[in-house]
Amino acid sequence: MQFGVPNIGRTWRSLRDQLSAADIPTAALDAQLLVRHVLGLDATGLIASETDPFPSGKLAELESLVARRLAGEPMARIRGVQEFYGLDFGLNDATLVPRPETEMLVEFGITELKSRSEPIIADLGTGTGCIVLALLANLPSARGTGVDIAADALVQAEANAQALGLADRFVMRHGSWFEPLGGDKFDLIVSNPPYIASATIEALEPGVKSFDPIAALDGGADGLDPYRIIGSQARNCLVPGGALALEIGFDQGHMVKELLSSEGFCEVAIAKDLAGHDRMVTARAPK
Ligand code: GLN
Repeated sequence: MQFGVPNIGRTWRSLRDQLSAADIPTAALDAQLLVRHVLGLDATGLIASETDPFPSGKLAELESLVARRLAGEPMARIRGVQEFYGLDFGLNDATLVPRPETEMLVEFGITELKSRSEPIIADLGTGTGCIVLALLANLPSARGTGVDIAADALVQAEANAQALGLADRFVMRHGSWFEPLGGDKFDLIVSNPPYIASATIEALEPGVKSFDPIAALDGGADGLDPYRIIGSQARNCLVPGGALALEIGFDQGHMVKELLSSEGFCEVAIAKDLAGHDRMVTARAPK
């Protein structure tokens, strides 16, 4: 190869420098992921083809993805995929990007259900389906229902269930909260509802505010509207002794705990995430 011809290694290094100059802290990783995305290479494939010429027909696509990254779009949105609990979840415009904190709900659910045979799970506001599908992947006899008011989210959740080989144990219901569940009773209800107070949406970091769907973030005037609905109706949809696990905002623990206690739930507890913030409230329906 002639000196100066952009090979694949040189392309990603110059891209890394460009992202780094724009103060993107994950510049090296992002550069590799973008090049791999455009060329359809895994990590080993990228190393193996370092000295191959970068295909000129793919340059325009790479440049447009780089422009999106430089404009602040998160990598998960650009690649259309986010890893969660060790599994890949496809995203679309109607779904949040799965967050690592949300893995706490999966941990809780596995502990709660692992000794029950054929437990059934409902995930309210399922989005990508990440919570319920990660549970199904780890609980071989479990079945799950994902509810979402956004029909497009359900299309994505179904695609993810198919890709993960979980579609035979997963059903989707289109509608608001408990409305599409009929009279079913569940062993576990999980939800990462919208919980940001409407007036503070503007203050969220740009990668969230501009790229995550507002409907998945906006929890009403104080951010607690979904907890009021879930708190008042969840007991009707749980088996006796069934569990509830809700993601919450860092300052909502006490309010949500009080709300669930006043609705007659037992064992109401707040759990902290790895950053030390209140992040989940769990509770049990009376036996
Ligand atoms: N945790 C999300 C954030 O960082 C909010 C998710 C939600 O409202 N459920 O913005």
